[in-house]
Amino acid sequence: MSARLPSLRRETCPACGAYPGVGVFCSECGVLMSHPESGDFAAPYLRRLAAELLDLLLFLLLPLWLFWMWQTSRDGQSPAKSLLDLYVIDEAGQPITAQRMWVRELVIKRLVLGLVGYGLTLLGPILNAGWILMNPDRQCIHDRAVGTLVVVRREAPVLAEAVPEPQAADFQMPPPAPSGPRLTPPPIPVPGPPRAVGQNIEPAAPARPTSPELEALELERTRLSQTEYERRRRALLRQLEESS
Ligand SMILES: [Zn+2]
Repeated sequence: MSARLPSLRRETCPACGAYPGVGVFCSECGVLMSHPESGDFAAPYLRRLAAELLDLLLFLLLPLWLFWMWQTSRDGQSPAKSLLDLYVIDEAGQPITAQRMWVRELVIKRLVLGLVGYGLTLLGPILNAGWILMNPDRQCIHDRAVGTLVVVRREAPVLAEAVPEPQAADFQMPPPAPSGPRLTPPPIPVPGPPRAVGQNIEPAAPARPTSPELEALELERTRLSQTEYERRRRALLRQLEESS
């Protein structure tokens, strides 16, 4: 099971107890709900935007950027993110590998989005940054491509009163029905109108139309499926109605 799923199903935030919205971060307190104990919170919009611009500037000093990136990638940071205290983590809430960090920063952001995307339209950078505002998990296009989130690290929150999460065992299927011929349930007795005390009990059975064919069908009933039985019964009743 994906580690993302539990956070999507939460009714209350594990840290603040409020309704957390639909994203992986609580819309009230910003905690990463799948891993509140890590102290990861959604990165503020402005700081992320600043990091994007700063990283772009630093990238122009390519040798410096490459060396710096080599240092910071193992912590899940780009040069600008290390200056602004932002961390990149996996969508599932786990730390990200240095290789994936290089794919994110160099391959996707600079080569694919940078050269191809921004070359096609000057709106590229704006579109990419604007994605943060539209995505409930504040992901840019390159975050979606690599499967990452950007967080700030704070002290781990004190968790709200633990609400038991639904366990897989709660959703177990009922045991399979026994094999063999289908049994029809006994008819449910319908209580008749209340009888006055002392009134004679009379066999007030409703006049049900019947015929030899219907009686034969009743005898055959256990060998037929419910649908087949109903179908034949309706046909016989219709015949009776027409003949009368
Ligand atoms: Zn919260």
